[in-house]
Amino acid sequence: MTKRVFNFSPGPAMLPLPVLEAAQKDLLALPGIGQSILEVSHRSKDFLSIIETAQANLRKLYGIPDNYRILFLQGGAQMQFAMIPMNFLRNSGKAADYIVTGSWSKKAAPEAKTQGDVNIAFDGSDTNFNRVPKADEMKLNPDAAYAYYCSTETIQGVQFPSEPDVGDVPLVCDASSDVLCRPVDMKKYAIYYACAQKNAGPAGVTMVIIRDDMVAKCPDDLPSMLRYPPLVEADSALNTPPVFAIYIVKLVTDWLLDEIGGLDKMLERNRMKSQMIYDAIDGSDGFYDCHAEKDSRSLMNIAFRLPSDELQDKFLAGATERDLVALKGHRSVGGCRASIYNAMPVEGCQLLAEYMTEFKKANG
Ligand code: PMP
Repeated sequence: MTKRVFNFSPGPAMLPLPVLEAAQKDLLALPGIGQSILEVSHRSKDFLSIIETAQANLRKLYGIPDNYRILFLQGGAQMQFAMIPMNFLRNSGKAADYIVTGSWSKKAAPEAKTQGDVNIAFDGSDTNFNRVPKADEMKLNPDAAYAYYCSTETIQGVQFPSEPDVGDVPLVCDASSDVLCRPVDMKKYAIYYACAQKNAGPAGVTMVIIRDDMVAKCPDDLPSMLRYPPLVEADSALNTPPVFAIYIVKLVTDWLLDEIGGLDKMLERNRMKSQMIYDAIDGSDGFYDCHAEKDSRSLMNIAFRLPSDELQDKFLAGATERDLVALKGHRSVGGCRASIYNAMPVEGCQLLAEYMTEFKKANG
């Protein structure tokens, strides 16, 4: 096998090796089908069985109740930035609450504004998006059309330890950066969505878990591809769905169930992995400066700075020599960022933590 590096990219990101191996092994012909997954019809019973298994796996992993649909859509997470307000804000006669904790929720709010009134219930920009709000800091409207938040801000590395309490208002979550990283009580959500390319598969598919009463609320006067009801009725195949990406999501969720043993186990492993890197930061006497405040730190994305640009460049070059790649932070916050999604092996986190400690000793 060609050598693989530890890829700390924020997405598309590493996939579990057994998933890549299974996809490689069966690429020419799926067992019992005799066709490549790249060749099968999206209307065939073979593909229907793949999409049904992916849905059943997600239901099992999250304990998703029967009154929720699971969709596999195109257009990325950002298409949901648009579809959600088009369907639930535009004709509602209400405003929507947006809890803004980083770049992605900041980007979602103006998209909603194109469709109706938006109340910014919290704006973390005053502290450079380094934390999630406390309950009493959010100006939530009890009559909002919905309340929207992003469970992990990929760029800032800020994660909600648990969902905000928004009372009876439908809760909408962009879980792109932490989907499947820990158990979630899906009953608290009206819509829970995530693009796949970080923690669930390749680019090209977005998973949308949506409660039936929300589907029933959608207006008629939108094009079919932008309304949830036709997508639900067609079970995600209103047009040709991203067959290969859905197949990989099936393999990733098989891996989570069969090899990891579910989301409790995944969470344990993610805590252990992230702790290694946070320990390297906290034990560095301030050499590494973590962007997120302690109680808002993410299990998935760790953004940190070094004392100078020169040291940062040297750190990144040394990391690449050790096969620890894609650690440069997003241009909007600078510094470094380690994205350590489910598929990042424990060894990758260990090597990075060791390297960080070594680098500080030599340069601190
Ligand atoms: N939300 C979050 C939290 C993200 O990290 C990203 C992508 N990095 C997006 C939304 C946008 O995803 P997409 O490119 O699939 O539209």
